[in-house]
Amino acid sequence: MELFTPGTGFIDLDIKIAYGLCRLGFEAGAGDMSITPMPGGFKIDMDVNPDELPSAYKLLFHRLLSGKHLYKLPGIQAKYIDNYPVSDLKEASLIDSFLEIYSPEHAASIDFSKNKMCGHDDIPSFGGTSGLILAASTHAGMPYKSGNLSQSGHMNTKLCELCGYITVMGILSGVFRLNMGSNLRIVTTPIPSQRIGRKEIELLFSSKLVLENSYIKNKIPLTVLPLSLMARFPSLTDVLSSLKYSLHIVVFESGQTDRVNGIELSQPGQIAKFLSKSTYNVATVDECLKNDDPYIEPLQSLNRVLTGRDTDYKRHQLMVFCRHWVSRVNRSIESGKSQALSLKILLYKQTVNYLLKEEAMLSPEIIENDAVRSFARTMRFFNSDSQHLNYTFVDNIRNASSDSGEFEKTIEKMLRSAQSLRLSLEKGSQEVGESKPRKFINIPSEKEFNELIRLASKDFNQVKTALVCLSLCRPEYRGKMTEEEVGGKG
Ligand SMILES: [Zn+2]
Repeated sequence: MELFTPGTGFIDLDIKIAYGLCRLGFEAGAGDMSITPMPGGFKIDMDVNPDELPSAYKLLFHRLLSGKHLYKLPGIQAKYIDNYPVSDLKEASLIDSFLEIYSPEHAASIDFSKNKMCGHDDIPSFGGTSGLILAASTHAGMPYKSGNLSQSGHMNTKLCELCGYITVMGILSGVFRLNMGSNLRIVTTPIPSQRIGRKEIELLFSSKLVLENSYIKNKIPLTVLPLSLMARFPSLTDVLSSLKYSLHIVVFESGQTDRVNGIELSQPGQIAKFLSKSTYNVATVDECLKNDDPYIEPLQSLNRVLTGRDTDYKRHQLMVFCRHWVSRVNRSIESGKSQALSLKILLYKQTVNYLLKEEAMLSPEIIENDAVRSFARTMRFFNSDSQHLNYTFVDNIRNASSDSGEFEKTIEKMLRSAQSLRLSLEKGSQEVGESKPRKFINIPSEKEFNELIRLASKDFNQVKTALVCLSLCRPEYRGKMTEEEVGGKG
């Protein structure tokens, strides 16, 4: 059978009705099932005997929706909570006509000047006389008041009780709810942008149960919330990595009356893909979140890398991310220690390689190029050795434009610094009677220098991005590396 959500004009409300109807379908023993986005609403296909629905509705709603605590939802004030729980009287007359109530004809014929949002004017209002609650849709009330669609000026903000209960059922089934800080509630609704089938609906409903009412200690800005949530709760990533959902995130501030603190509509697919690819990627994000004072700047630039559209922009943001991450992580580690670390913490190479390839769209020839790797190795020394720390090389390369000559100048300067440093390290070790220096700095060959300059003249942006990012990640222990170097880095 085919059901249609009413098409209230509020997508975050219609999808909750769709999830509620699917939950009902599961209860009624439905086989195959799917939700398909349609203009203005959602179509639900269910392989179910229509006669089963009314009894399933009675059973499920009386069993699950009679507790008052379920209605502690944003927008329902404590003094009105008694109006909401399911009672025997409500719904008695209407449960036989699901097919009609949620038909395409009904969805198409909604008159916005009528009394109820969902167009079901014959059915009593959800929660008595009150208007549409915030939990049903964050956008409740506002557009209709300002748009004033009806001639009479009537405010069309109510929901019928059937849609109301199904919405609550939808919230309990497919909407992720978390607490953040002392008084914020985060309500995250995945909205499918293409058809999702039974397996995906099941995965969504079960993931929701896993993280129901989890808690995030520190306040995180809305823009990086999708990234932070998915890193903290992998089951969310499982659902969203199918690239089939948008994420509607609302932050509510609890109080006498609940207020919407912010709304974000995000496309979480690339973020989910990134996080599901490797645990190193999750650990990279987690590093920014685990402190009392989360590192917001690296999260923001990473978010821009993952959600950006323009390749040059993504490359730029990737360099910013790597640089911010390394300095921020080390700064906070050192503030807690009396002595500075002899080697700075760098990014995981797996994470940087993934971002360079999949997000910054760098060609493997450049990422794997021996000359690029050799110069990155030299620059890594200056980025990681506390005693000789010097970020000017990486920053000058990062900010160099293709025609300024700054790139070549910095490379040459870094070479000279590396050469004189090598000499002084060797001298130092001779003085204390060691056969070889403890630290090793790589000196690229002249051939590698020429190769790098040639590559840079061909594809400046790619070479620059690779060089900066690789110099800020941990070294690759490949056969090529000399014994000395491995010993020196360790
Ligand atoms: Zn309705």
